[in-house]
Amino acid sequence: MSKKHNFGAGPCILPQEVFEEASKAVVNFNGLSILEISHRSPEFVAVMDEARELVKELLEVPEGYTVLFLQGGASLGFLISAMNMAGATKKAGYVNTGAWSTKAIKEGKNAGLTVSEIASSEDKNFNYIPKGYGTDGFDFVHITSNNTIFGTQMKSFPASNSPLVCDMSSDIFSRKVNVADFDIIYAGAQKNLGPAGTTLYIVKESILGQSSLETIPTYLNLETHHKKDSMFNTPPVFSVYTSMLNLRHLKKNGGVAAMEEKNQAKADLLYNEIDSNPLFEGTAAKEDRSNMNVTFTLTDDSLADAWNAEWNKAGIVGLKGHRSVGGYRASMYNALELDSVKVLVNLMRDFANNNK
Ligand code: PMP
Repeated sequence: MSKKHNFGAGPCILPQEVFEEASKAVVNFNGLSILEISHRSPEFVAVMDEARELVKELLEVPEGYTVLFLQGGASLGFLISAMNMAGATKKAGYVNTGAWSTKAIKEGKNAGLTVSEIASSEDKNFNYIPKGYGTDGFDFVHITSNNTIFGTQMKSFPASNSPLVCDMSSDIFSRKVNVADFDIIYAGAQKNLGPAGTTLYIVKESILGQSSLETIPTYLNLETHHKKDSMFNTPPVFSVYTSMLNLRHLKKNGGVAAMEEKNQAKADLLYNEIDSNPLFEGTAAKEDRSNMNVTFTLTDDSLADAWNAEWNKAGIVGLKGHRSVGGYRASMYNALELDSVKVLVNLMRDFANNNK
């Protein structure tokens, strides 16, 4: 069966080469399966070390930051980041740009902090990125770089007067970022990094052990993991291994700068079609459109069945929009090739020609 064009929002496509190499290691990794080796074996310690080093190299992580691969998904990251960043004021500012930010806000409150929503785009169903808000006087300000559901992305980050924490789950490694601007970056693996199961944290070491909370459960304390070189307990071995393979693949293929160019080309192609095709329209404000998740609708709902049949027939999967936006969402993570986007764009063009 030929490989389908996976536009799914996550878990998502990874490079075929990575799938193949990972599958080989399930059968044989130094005479054992990667699924049965001890996480304390020198072979796996080398995997963890290489994964952490590759993150540092590919994102040009400056001195004074630690890289950790933990469990719990970005959903636990909402709580972990808040608990570890709690400082003298116990006040946190959150920019609410969608469903995931809203969940982060809830966990900020669960951490016992006084949470202010310093900006929100909820008034327009989160179809834009708010700008020009105050960032003074907080232990930290939390932002979401890319809004997976609503198809918006911060093209630049706020010049914050308080330390910045960023959920980069759905666009990490897709473009260059200045890590030094952040105290914590966290990201669930299952978009541009690897299979679900691990969550990446990039943490300024000077915040470790500084939380003003009376207690932080051991696992939720980032210092615990830093002290143990990200091996406090059994890590999600397969997820970390496959992430490492994917990072190697990214390095071999020009790194983040090359990926940014590829992602821009894919986004330009699809957005140009959406803007010129009378049967489709984008849902996100143009200046805030995401290069990872492209949200759009049909201009004539009565064509939905016909359109759905077309893309299904073409081997496209995962195009259905999230229920809170409706319509369609083309997720174009790093591993999705330009050719897959061309298939979609040609289909949209043909569909318009056939429905004049
Ligand atoms: N933040 C963002 C931006 C996401 O897209 C997601 C999941 N798609 C999450 C957080 C939650 O991640 P997890 O499922 O790893 O908890």
